[in-house]
Amino acid sequence: MSHALPADGEAPPEPISAHAFKGEVRAWAERIGVQPAAVHIRPMQRKWASCSSGGRLTFDTGLLAQAAVFRDEVIVHELLHLKVPNHGKLFRQLTRAYLRDGHVEATT
Ligand SMILES: [Zn+2]
Repeated sequence: MSHALPADGEAPPEPISAHAFKGEVRAWAERIGVQPAAVHIRPMQRKWASCSSGGRLTFDTGLLAQAAVFRDEVIVHELLHLKVPNHGKLFRQLTRAYLRDGHVEATT
């Protein structure tokens, strides 16, 4: 990763393309070992992403302009819901494990 999460007031990072974003989702899905039924990117009203009971993931277009570390958090969160439908202890443990691994990989 070439730069850290920008502090408040700094210019936002360059937006990535929807194609690149879907590539990130695919890479995380492989690492986590899940297969989303579909991945959509569209403007959402009140949240960054959602996961349907059928395994379809929808991400807000606004994520394309967010920092990579934040995108990772949202992507991992939704993909983990394909394994664990709630926010219980297991979910939080997996979130920590994958994001820590991801950050180590991204910074070395
Ligand atoms: Zn959730």
